[in-house]
Amino acid sequence: MRPSNEFKVPRDLLDKYNTAGPRYTSYPTAPEWQDGWGDAEGFEVLAQNNAERADVPLSLYVHLPFCHKLCFFCGCNMLVTQKQDLVTSYLDALELEIDRVSRRFDHARRPVVQIHWGGGTPTYLKPDQLARVFNALSSRFNVAQDAEISLELHPAVTSDEQLVTLKQLGFNRVSMGIQDFDAKVQQAVNRIQPYELTRDLIARCRELGFDSVNTDLMYGLPHQGLAGFEATLDLVLGIRPDRIALFNYAHVPWLKKHMEAIKEADLPTPDEKLRIFEMAIGRLLDVGYRYIGMDHFALPDDELSRAQEARTLRRNFMGYTTCADSDLIAFGCSSISDMDRAYTQNERNVQDYIAAIGSRELATKRGMRLSDDDRLRRDVINDLFCNLYVDKQAVAAKHGVAFDATFAKELAALAPLAADGLVELAPDHLHITPRGQILLRNVAMVFDAYLDKRPASERRFSKTV
Ligand code: SF4
Repeated sequence: MRPSNEFKVPRDLLDKYNTAGPRYTSYPTAPEWQDGWGDAEGFEVLAQNNAERADVPLSLYVHLPFCHKLCFFCGCNMLVTQKQDLVTSYLDALELEIDRVSRRFDHARRPVVQIHWGGGTPTYLKPDQLARVFNALSSRFNVAQDAEISLELHPAVTSDEQLVTLKQLGFNRVSMGIQDFDAKVQQAVNRIQPYELTRDLIARCRELGFDSVNTDLMYGLPHQGLAGFEATLDLVLGIRPDRIALFNYAHVPWLKKHMEAIKEADLPTPDEKLRIFEMAIGRLLDVGYRYIGMDHFALPDDELSRAQEARTLRRNFMGYTTCADSDLIAFGCSSISDMDRAYTQNERNVQDYIAAIGSRELATKRGMRLSDDDRLRRDVINDLFCNLYVDKQAVAAKHGVAFDATFAKELAALAPLAADGLVELAPDHLHITPRGQILLRNVAMVFDAYLDKRPASERRFSKTV
């Protein structure tokens, strides 16, 4: 195991690299996609995908946007509402969309290997509504026996009846937000979630037989400090989740107006944030977790750890995954499909989504067709984020290019990052160092062909640290 002090970033490097940059859940990133897509483009890319990837399995994502209460740090596309008739209309639209899209696939050749529900709060739905959405998928798609089926839970609004229903439906993984157990932090972000409630819910999930229970933590929230966050970590480690996602809070009030409710003066400085992150890495490594990609940690016998070791880890909009090569088809408002040669995104707003499904066939709003160069760069960025390693020969063979010649400019641009100890440049590979793992976005940005074309004033990304 690597000693945790390898992950420390000196202050001068922090100042140098703390710049605005994408998180690369897609490449090209969403600002590059085109507006004005509709049914014609949506169906066209589905047909192309079916023709070119006829034997590639599918992953399905469902976006369930409803929440009971607003968390001020929230970066998701969600809607706080108590209007049950709106929820019913949304589920009606969702079922129609699932039906229309499912008809485009040859299900015998394209089993579903992964399903994920995100939000919003999927457990906003009542047990019969949960069953309705799941049955809409399972009755139309060919869900593999061993499919990974997961959803995000909010402990404060998840009942035992919902958990039992989810287990009976076939869900085998759950993840839940914790963020921080400190009462002052919870107060400042408007999310009150006592430790005991979370602990008991996780115990119940294990008792019911969910294969994996994962938790999300967040650093960079108001009033967080080293001691307080270490106390949260102590409690979390007592629960010992299979996986822990440790997200960097992105304070972007210009994109998410509700974040204005968080006082900037209460936020930790970039230096304090980094120290919290470094402390957390140290604590997690010390007790046996492995550091995966940019911000995930997994127990050594977890599939994520094994996949990173074997350099087979992948990443899509649902997060890190060990599932075989698959194309992601997404349903619901704002959801994003990733179909190898194209991205599409649905109408963002709940009402607009319902209206689109009511007046036309799909709810596609924007998208992008990927060029060969986009796909090549996407693979390199994925390798960096997932496996911390780029095998030049493997990339060259897959894409029919000479790696060093194609990326001569990028390799030259990486030289200073190599000198700062972020990446090792070898004749046959690139390897992210522990320090580089913390600044992964900065390394990946070198391979982004669009960043330089966009003026800095238009780069509305969060800071990399
Ligand atoms: S419950 Fe989740 S989706 Fe809803 S407001 Fe809070 S963080 Fe956002």
